[in-house]
Amino acid sequence: MTDSLDMLHRPSCPITLEANGLELQGFSIGGLATYLMVPEWKICFDIGECPVEAVRLPYVFLTHSHGDHARGLLRHFSLRRMLNMPQAEYFVPDFLVEPLRNLAQAWCDLEGHRNRPEYIPNFRPLSKRDTVELNRQLRVATFPVDHRVRSLGFTVQEVRKKLKPEFHGTAGHQLGALKRQGVEIEIETLQPRLTFIGDTTLRTLEREPHCLDSEVLVIETTFILQEDLEMAAPKGHLHLFELFDFLSANPESCKFNALVLKHFSMKYTKAQIEAVVRKKTPEFLKDRVKILV
Ligand SMILES: [Zn+2]
Ligand SMILES: [Zn+2]
Repeated sequence: MTDSLDMLHRPSCPITLEANGLELQGFSIGGLATYLMVPEWKICFDIGECPVEAVRLPYVFLTHSHGDHARGLLRHFSLRRMLNMPQAEYFVPDFLVEPLRNLAQAWCDLEGHRNRPEYIPNFRPLSKRDTVELNRQLRVATFPVDHRVRSLGFTVQEVRKKLKPEFHGTAGHQLGALKRQGVEIEIETLQPRLTFIGDTTLRTLEREPHCLDSEVLVIETTFILQEDLEMAAPKGHLHLFELFDFLSANPESCKFNALVLKHFSMKYTKAQIEAVVRKKTPEFLKDRVKILV
C-alpha cells in the first residue's frame, strides 16, 4: 500500500482529460482526494485537495462534507486572501454552512486571528433543488444525491436562445423591427453540459434520470472487482458493474457523449483500473467512457 501511495497518487498534480470538447483537470481517488476543475467555466467541483491551479478559479461547488472532498476549501480561501484576490464563491449544501463556519473559526483561532470575520469564507447555501446563475450563459442546478452523508449533485446548464417557431421564415429586418417593438421573438432553452456527482450509490441515477441527459456525466465507481460487489452500496458507493448493468438496461436514455469515471479505491493500481474498465465497458459505450486516473 505504501508503494502504491508513493508511486501512483499525486493529489496536488491534476490529470487533464478532454470530454466532449471540454477540458477537465482533476484528481479523484477514494479516501485520498477528489476535485474537478473546468477552467473554461472557472469552476472547481469538490476540493479535497487544493492544487495551485485551483486557486485562480472563483467558483467552488462542494458536494458533501467528507474530508476527501472538502479538505482543501480553507486552503483555497486563504491562498486567495494571501494573493490579494477577491474572495471566491463557495457554494455548499445549506446544512453545511454552520459546521463549515465553525471549522473556519477554529482554524482562525489556531492561527491567532480571533474575531476577524474577514478570515471566515462567505459560504453560499444551496438547497437540494436550487439554481445558481453564474453569468448570462451558465447556470448550475442542484439535485439530491444518495450517499452515506447528505450530498448534492450539480448540473451545469448553458442558456441558449432559439427563435420561436412562429417566427421561422420571417426576414431579418422584420425580426429586428419586432424586437424593437418589444415582442419576445426568442425562447430560452437550457442545454445540460455537464453533471458532476461526488460520492453516490446507484439510487441517485434511478431517482434523477436527468443526469443521463448531460453532454458529460462525471460519476464515481469506487469499486471495480467482483469480490467488492457486495460492499459498494452499504458503504454508500457505486460499483462499476452496477453502473454498467444499469446503463445497459437503458441504452436509449444514455444521452451523454462522455462518461467520466472517478474516485477509484486506493487499493487498485492504475493498470488494473484501465484493464477492468476496458474489459467491462459495454460495446455501445466504448467511445464514451473515460477514466480519471
Ligand atoms: Zn469520497
Ligand atoms: Zn463521501
